[in-house]
Amino acid sequence: MEPQKPSLRCCTICPRNCGIDRIAGQMGFCHGSMLPKIALVSTHHWEEPPISGTKGSGTVFFCHCNLRCVFCQNYKISAEGFGKTVSIERLSEIFLNQQDKGVHNINLVSPTQFIVQIASALCLAKNNGLKIPVVYNSNGYESAEMLKILNGLVDIYLPDFKYWDDEIAIAYSEAPRYASIAAQAILEMRRQLPQDVFDTEGILQKGLLLRHLVLPSHFLDSFKILDWIKASLGIDTYVSLLRQYTPMHQANTIKALSRRLTTFEYEKVTEYFLNIGLKNGFCQSKRSAAQEYTPIFNLAGVEKNSSNTKGENVW
Ligand code: SF4
Repeated sequence: MEPQKPSLRCCTICPRNCGIDRIAGQMGFCHGSMLPKIALVSTHHWEEPPISGTKGSGTVFFCHCNLRCVFCQNYKISAEGFGKTVSIERLSEIFLNQQDKGVHNINLVSPTQFIVQIASALCLAKNNGLKIPVVYNSNGYESAEMLKILNGLVDIYLPDFKYWDDEIAIAYSEAPRYASIAAQAILEMRRQLPQDVFDTEGILQKGLLLRHLVLPSHFLDSFKILDWIKASLGIDTYVSLLRQYTPMHQANTIKALSRRLTTFEYEKVTEYFLNIGLKNGFCQSKRSAAQEYTPIFNLAGVEKNSSNTKGENVW
């Protein structure tokens, strides 16, 4: 079956199905406009080793979001919308500029609300010589049907699986049915890219790497997500267990989220991962839970002749 033809005239790009006309300037839940909006183009060294490698990952941070995570570390661009609108042509040029810098991949961060514009920019960039892998780095709250337009354009899916419990998903991200929606989206990602392929240096070239941010007070929710991964994707699935939770944005308004994760909680989840037989995991060091690892959104690399940024490794 052909993928559904997406239209910004009646936006159903993501599971929110707002139905608004983005071309006429109407605003839906995410606040995404007709053209892509970005806040930072950088070389990122803090992603998982097969993504950042030695040369870094060429991140492009998109503005706005279809979730409302109370603990969002990127709230300046997700909730407050800091960023700059660019044309499809400029976006494709940014992808090619990143490639010229010698990074391992193009890393599309929070891309969901601009999936259609990104697909157009990727087609253009590929026609103009984009060769390095493209990473789709999303929050998991995706329409499985809409992801079909990325088939053949994206090489690596890097989705979050944030919550299992619906009450938590609603309370922390205003995301009803998060688990069932993310599960369907991830199955579609795996369908498109059934094999994980690494180069001789261990850098991922094609495949799926799932992320789960372990939250304070909720390690049982993490267990359920790991159970689903094992049952639905298999024990060889690559999973990154993030330890970097820091109470930012509005997190202090919720008691359970108003503190950092303890070593006990994180180790509960890593032990469970091993006990149920999952084989391919990445874990983070304790020092990853620091505000200084939050990117500085300053429009670097967005306009022509602006430079980008670097950082140190926390894995
Ligand atoms: S992409 Fe934005 S406007 Fe479109 S359905 Fe999702 S939240 Fe609504």
